[in-house]
Amino acid sequence: MDTKEIAMTVDVELWSKRKDYYKDIKYATPVLLDVSDTVPLSLFVSLSPKFSVIPFEEYISLLGDFIDEVKKERNISVHLHQHAKWLPINLDTSSDDLSEYTHEELHQLLSYGKEFFSSEFNVRVKYFRPGGFKIPDLGTYYDVLKKLHLNSSMGGEYDKIVTTASRFGVTEVPVPIVSKLSLLKYPFRTIKTLAFIENLSISQLTSALGSVLSTSERATLAIGAHSFLFYPDLRSAYILLHNLLDVPSGRLYSTYAKKLILVASNLSTYYKLVLL
Ligand SMILES: [Zn+2]
Repeated sequence: MDTKEIAMTVDVELWSKRKDYYKDIKYATPVLLDVSDTVPLSLFVSLSPKFSVIPFEEYISLLGDFIDEVKKERNISVHLHQHAKWLPINLDTSSDDLSEYTHEELHQLLSYGKEFFSSEFNVRVKYFRPGGFKIPDLGTYYDVLKKLHLNSSMGGEYDKIVTTASRFGVTEVPVPIVSKLSLLKYPFRTIKTLAFIENLSISQLTSALGSVLSTSERATLAIGAHSFLFYPDLRSAYILLHNLLDVPSGRLYSTYAKKLILVASNLSTYYKLVLL
């Protein structure tokens, strides 16, 4: 009986210091489509351009192209990942940090996102992931989700967020916080990091998730990745790399795609890979 499940998730956000917003469409889309041939991919797509230099309409039209391309795939699902910055709603959205918004404002932001996906992209989103895992507080967060009939996939202390979510009747598929020993940056210190592809080696991911999953009878966990990891030059992703030991130089984008597939196939011998 298989009640332990893993969802492979990718946060899709246009992200470029050089303001080349076509990268996600040009480079990340084909890689994601390739990977989805073997791995079910749950995509968390950001509705906020995050930078003011691109008009919202232009960003949305790029995003629409991307969603049209991926939503035809049987092995891909599309959900809402929200950063607040520059969303054109009747609210001061100059801060990207969702923890700075009130209960009512958070409701307004998420309701806007959910409606937008439905009316503009013809996608009914079932899950939400907060930008940078920033939220006002767990009670406020899950109450808003409950009212909007959204489930959640965010990062945090496993027990704390799963227990609170279930109190509100919200399904939480957490990206767990796991420990890793970083010899490179912090000699002899164990640091905590989120289960993202760029943060941990394959064996660290496998054993860390195994230890979280062994503590509960039934659980679904998420592993994260970012769409910009698949850019060929990876300039922006370099900034986020915490574990260079794990990533050889050269064609890094295919290395990450390969890593995602390897992690998934490793885990699929113990757990069921699911689409959210
Ligand atoms: Zn994000």
